[in-house]
Amino acid sequence: MFLLENFYSEMNDVSSILSISESIKISLCDKAMFAYPMECCGLLVGHRTSFCDKKDTNNITISSSVSTNNLAINPDRAFEIDPVTHITLIRNLRSQMMSCDFYEQIVGHYHSHPDSSSLPSINDLTRATIAETVWLIISISSDGIGDIDAWKAVSGKNSRIEFQKMRIQNITTSCLE
Ligand SMILES: [Zn+2]
Repeated sequence: MFLLENFYSEMNDVSSILSISESIKISLCDKAMFAYPMECCGLLVGHRTSFCDKKDTNNITISSSVSTNNLAINPDRAFEIDPVTHITLIRNLRSQMMSCDFYEQIVGHYHSHPDSSSLPSINDLTRATIAETVWLIISISSDGIGDIDAWKAVSGKNSRIEFQKMRIQNITTSCLE
């Protein structure tokens, strides 16, 4: 229980902003509804604020999403990103890299929680191994879409990965151009 208490106490520390367009959010909700009652999953592409000077890497802007098959054995309560889609996306992004000023990269992933909240599950916590990765979670039930929350995996006490809640900020499509 010690682990659980720490886990939840750290999660309410909102210290960074995730900027995402309404159109991307709607498309993620569509995927969650299509997959229901199974979990949907996919990758989030974007960039970190002031990536080059490293002065402010807290805030992240999402520019696109790529859905993948959910390869989990129990997709009704777990997700597994398709590694082929993941590797292909990494290669595509590298080939498109123009300069360090606008470095599009995989910044995280999304998945849905059928009939569950948008809080990271214990399973999510045990699987979060890479710091600074965004976990966007869509709660969905038979009544429709519930909360959508973004969490950032951060290196906490004793180098243990914890989740910090991000503040989701809507951006217009024109801001991405
Ligand atoms: Zn989860």
